Amino acid sequence: MADQIAAEPEIREYVRSVSLREDPILAELRTVTAGLPGGTLMQVMAEEGQLLSLLVGLSGARSVLEIGTFTGYSTLCLARALPPDGEVVTCDRDGRWPAIGAGYWKRAGVAERIDVRIGDATRTLSALADERGTESFDFVFIDADKTNYGAYYEAALKLVRPEGLIVIDNTLFFGRVVDPASQDPDTVAIRTLNASLHDDPRVDVSLLTMADGITLARKR
Ligand code: SAH
Ligand code: CA
Repeated sequence: MADQIAAEPEIREYVRSVSLREDPILAELRTVTAGLPGGTLMQVMAEEGQLLSLLVGLSGARSVLEIGTFTGYSTLCLARALPPDGEVVTCDRDGRWPAIGAGYWKRAGVAERIDVRIGDATRTLSALADERGTESFDFVFIDADKTNYGAYYEAALKLVRPEGLIVIDNTLFFGRVVDPASQDPDTVAIRTLNASLHDDPRVDVSLLTMADGITLARKR
């Protein structure tokens, strides 16, 4: 997991001890994923997964779009919080990772709520706009390749309904956003998006310093 950047280890452990409720299915998926190359870094922290569930419930979302499935830990958190007829459309360019999550989604009883689209996310998003029309999702979670974050945000704004929520992960990017020496394309893309959100009149915004930085942008 991209670890908590804003809290001392003692605070992080305390927060977990009093608020984390990761169940055995999620815990097993986390462990299996941690054994993959880059697995620990890529999947959301358990507390972030729990926050995603809470946000889906809070927003009353029925249709969720996820950009960046990986092994589907966040997908499971999103799907579980939906009503039985709700749906998560989740996309990844590599089908090997969602295939790992599928067994866990099934065990959790939510597999039928999850629609996996394999392919480049930019193409998947434009196909979804054609297929479903704009403003067809209640909630979007952006967590794929960082250099495309600006494009994913613009696509998400079109696909989400007014008052729908866009959640963007890793917006502090291991703290690199405040390091002037970090000029790699990922950091630059995240910095650019963060700066543009500050003055974006289309959304209400909050950047949570939880995990690796989680931005909430609610479409006006
Ligand atoms: N949300 C996941 C983590 C996603 S990691 C979780 O919490 O477990 C980012 C994922 O984005 C990877 O699985 C990677 O294959 C995928 N990805 C990277 N570039 C992509 C692209 N251009 N289109 C679609 N998926 C992409
Ligand atoms: Ca992430």
